[in-house]
Amino acid sequence: MSTPTLSLPAPPAVSSEWALFLDVDGTLLDFADVPGDVAVDPGLIDVLAVLHGRLDGALALVSGRRLAQLDELFAPLKLPAVGLHGLERREDGHQERHPRPVALDQAVAWGRALAQRYPGARVEDKGTTIALHWRAAPDAEDLLRQYADSILIELPGYHLQHGNMVVELRPDGAHKGSAVVDLLAHPPFHGRRPVFVGDDLTDEHAFQAVCSHAGFGVLVGSRQPSAARYALHDPAAVRAWLEEGLDLA
Ligand SMILES: [Mg+2]
Repeated sequence: MSTPTLSLPAPPAVSSEWALFLDVDGTLLDFADVPGDVAVDPGLIDVLAVLHGRLDGALALVSGRRLAQLDELFAPLKLPAVGLHGLERREDGHQERHPRPVALDQAVAWGRALAQRYPGARVEDKGTTIALHWRAAPDAEDLLRQYADSILIELPGYHLQHGNMVVELRPDGAHKGSAVVDLLAHPPFHGRRPVFVGDDLTDEHAFQAVCSHAGFGVLVGSRQPSAARYALHDPAAVRAWLEEGLDLA
């Protein structure tokens, strides 16, 4: 596969003055057909642990995954983190979670019955949200999108969030941008220049949030339009950039 040319310049070296917010899938980690199949290199965990110290704690993971999954992936590291695109949050050991509506049980059951027609299609129950994945079954896209549209009627206060070969049903309100703004209101993030690194449409809220707080976004890949100011090619380039930052911070 040829590497696309990036329309944005490479970011400056990581600074110890920053508050660094990192998306996980497609940013730190390469995508897998099944979200549970991703692997984390122990070397990356070491890099994140050292960076967390150099930034005086101002390093957070901001993901669509649940916090419990993030902790499992990056064990033994337990960083400040935002899960489910802002619905779960942990800072200073204090954890918050959004409640689950009863109608989600039926929505998951119906979705799974439909997805069975397409081997590889997946309905992921994330507790408060449902993600419909077709990365391993591209033919299922139309059906899963239609299903997502139809089930919204059963879920007042929910909306669709479109991502990379996935659509997610999630409650209104919280998103990655609002989560980053909340974190920036408190130490160790407060008063630092916020930098968000992410690949997906769902990261655009966060790019806009850091821009409005004198920071900037770093896009992973070449997707446009984007509110990010800089870009890196892929997760391997992000990992190399973070590692280089250890020498310069
Ligand atoms: Mg991502």
